Amino acid sequence: MNEITLANLMSPVAPTWCPGCGNFSILTALKQALVELKLNMEDVVIVFGIGCSGNTADFIKCYGLHALHGRGVANAIGIKLANHNQKVIMIGGDGDIYGEGFNHLVAACRGNHDLTTLVFNNHRYSLTTGQASPTSAKGTISKSTPQGLIENPIGALSTAISNGAGFVARAYAGKLKQMVDLIKEGILYEGFSLIDVQQPCPSFNKEQDYAWYQENVFDLAADYDPTNQGQALVTLLDQDKLGLGVLYRNDQRLAYHKEVPCLSAQSLIEQFPKEINLSKAIAEFV
Ligand code: SF4
Repeated sequence: MNEITLANLMSPVAPTWCPGCGNFSILTALKQALVELKLNMEDVVIVFGIGCSGNTADFIKCYGLHALHGRGVANAIGIKLANHNQKVIMIGGDGDIYGEGFNHLVAACRGNHDLTTLVFNNHRYSLTTGQASPTSAKGTISKSTPQGLIENPIGALSTAISNGAGFVARAYAGKLKQMVDLIKEGILYEGFSLIDVQQPCPSFNKEQDYAWYQENVFDLAADYDPTNQGQALVTLLDQDKLGLGVLYRNDQRLAYHKEVPCLSAQSLIEQFPKEINLSKAIAEFV
């Protein structure tokens, strides 16, 4: 067993993100959360999407997989079904998860698959130099929308809640301690946890900069009840003022693998016959 420490999460590759990018603090929060949870390296798998956020794959040392664009959640579900003893985390951007991969996100919510999805939401496709994404505001001028974006931003969190996600939270890259706490809570939650992290992108989103966020985020009130689904949906209808914290939590619903009879006693990998030589089978495909 190799307990996670900041030292053994350290990658030899330094982040290549732009100065001031919100991704730096999200990575710091993720590492801190993993350390504080006292998990072991071999018990955590991180799946990375494609984008500036997906490049985190190079900047943290862990077991994981860099998935195809939009397919990270589907890969994460597969890993969890194969070995539900693992903590499975999926990292991607708003384009990757709310755009290309949105149907996989809905499937994860419907099944309440026990994984944590962290969305680095900068409201742009930034790796490809700033095209409008599913969370861009109506009217956004970008390379792909020079006349201004016509569509409304996607209601991703309300969709997640109304389709069965058991834990939905919103964080902000400018609030480190809150991010750490929400990531820890999401990882410990047994079911699907979606954490939307509002992330400034100084290079390609000049509108939603740190000053904008200071004006437009607020902590959910102390008497906010995250078990009240209706209240969560009403809160999310306000897309300008962004409430931070646990928006919704359902502790009544079982995670997907808990409802599958053949997985209740043992994980799939534990049931796998030991005498099968996988190396030989894999060699046929490489
Ligand atoms: Fe961060 Fe934006 Fe630069 Fe990507 S383009 S690294 S999101 S600041």
